[in-house]
Amino acid sequence: MARRTVTIRYTASRACPNCGGRGNDGAAWRPVDCRRCKGRGRLITAIEVEDSLEGILPRSRYDFYATGEVELIDFDEDDEIEVVGPEEPPDTVPGY
Ligand SMILES: [Zn+2]
Repeated sequence: MARRTVTIRYTASRACPNCGGRGNDGAAWRPVDCRRCKGRGRLITAIEVEDSLEGILPRSRYDFYATGEVELIDFDEDDEIEVVGPEEPPDTVPGY
């Protein structure tokens, strides 16, 4: 049997209101990563989770945070699940 995979995609994000999308506090010398978006500059507002077994999962099967962490709900911990992704959110170019 093929290994079960769960693929996570960020489908929407918005500029972080705390840092104005900069990702840090804007200090000229040693800028500090924004606490709210963890330096990403964007907050995740929507994700899609696709299970190789069950297809696209309903919103009730997972939880996610604006920082991009995703928690899967009601998954058997004995199942070997490979989690794929997510990529950086849309509109984000790391390092710029
Ligand atoms: Zn921020």
